[in-house]
Amino acid sequence: MNYRRSSLLFEDAKKIIPGGVNSPVRAFKSVGGTPIFIDRAKGSYLYDVDGNRFIDYISSWGPMILGHAYKPVLDAVKKRLKKGTSFGIPTEIENKIASLAISMVPNIEKIRFVNSGTEACMSAIRLARGFTKKEKIIKFKGCYHGHADSFLIQAGSGAITFGSPDSPGVTQGTAKDTLLCDFNDIDSVIKIFKKNKNKIAAVIIEPVAGNMGCIVPKFGFLEGLREICDQNKTLLIFDEVMTGFRLAKGGAQERLSVNADIVTFGKVIGGGLPVGAFASTNEIMNKLAPEGDIYQAGTLSGNPIAMEAGYTILNILNTDTEIFKSLDEKTKKLHAGMESLLNKSNIPFSINSFGSMISLHFTEGPVVDFNSSSLGNNNYFKKYFHEMLNAGIYLPPSAFESYFLNDALSYQDIEFTLNAFESVLKKIVI
Ligand SMILES: *Cc1c(COP(=O)(O)O)cnc(C)c1O
Repeated sequence: MNYRRSSLLFEDAKKIIPGGVNSPVRAFKSVGGTPIFIDRAKGSYLYDVDGNRFIDYISSWGPMILGHAYKPVLDAVKKRLKKGTSFGIPTEIENKIASLAISMVPNIEKIRFVNSGTEACMSAIRLARGFTKKEKIIKFKGCYHGHADSFLIQAGSGAITFGSPDSPGVTQGTAKDTLLCDFNDIDSVIKIFKKNKNKIAAVIIEPVAGNMGCIVPKFGFLEGLREICDQNKTLLIFDEVMTGFRLAKGGAQERLSVNADIVTFGKVIGGGLPVGAFASTNEIMNKLAPEGDIYQAGTLSGNPIAMEAGYTILNILNTDTEIFKSLDEKTKKLHAGMESLLNKSNIPFSINSFGSMISLHFTEGPVVDFNSSSLGNNNYFKKYFHEMLNAGIYLPPSAFESYFLNDALSYQDIEFTLNAFESVLKKIVI
């Protein structure tokens, strides 16, 4: 494939935008090469500025669950556009999407809309701290909750000590309030709670992790967190920015039958426009300004165009529950196909999948947490990524990202992908 125009655009972009991109993983840094620039997309296909077509397995990192340029969303947005794009004053569509989201998701009575997943998680933490009057939070190594200071923390010297900043600009003061545990390791959580009695406001987790590949919680792990949080009057926050309205209409809470105290959303809830949200019970949400004294605000929050897009998607997911089954079946088909081809090769691998999330790791596995995910062979991954791209398949350009399937993907697309996969595998190992 020819990527000439993309390469020229990237050269220009680097002069005026840091690293040429507005979000780091887009830059292809961990796989090398230059990113492609997209012209348009439709259904399961992306079309770049050089005229190449790709089957899309990232779905804009989740939001495009029903495929690109989905007609009902385009129609709803067009209709709303004529009325104006933003007022900073309440609109009826905010009530409609709020009631709908509350009716779909377990354990939530009120919801507040923001503009991104980062904002949702950042606000959820403030709410949990304000509500519990405690300051520390627990997060899990490898889980991503957006780029707010409190979440950019890595272990300093093992999970038992205070975290240290993961990025320059995050202060030690902030870092010391974020404690780290290992995903799927309940003992690491028990230890931290013992060391920090009555200090932990919240445990925040991706119930099915999607930011270190797809990592599935072991049976009993989330249940264990629920129990520990109850015993310690700590709030359990499910970051469902990725899993919300993707794993089921009620998200991971419904799919895994574990209840959270606060839930955060993003991605699907905006139907491809910038939307995030956080939600909880009346008791907790009533602490937020202007009803309560925990401050949180946003000039463009609840933007009517974005709400219209989100409402349209949620409505379809609420009425057509076959969509989740169909997504599951397509993912299973892909998983089984990849597995059988890999079994015929001598390449070490481990495939994780859950619902419409799937990831391939070039290591024997099992891949159950950040450490085991890090063992993947990145040289294999780089080759695999570029060969698949050249074959017309757009995968996440990082070994630490899950694929997110969309329902526009056809069985022919999956067949095409598996055929390409078979020839690509032969090129990975020399
Ligand atoms: C994408 C993501 C975020 C951040 O959302 P943004 O809209 O990119 O700010 C937070 N948590 C999870 C689980 C995510 O996947």
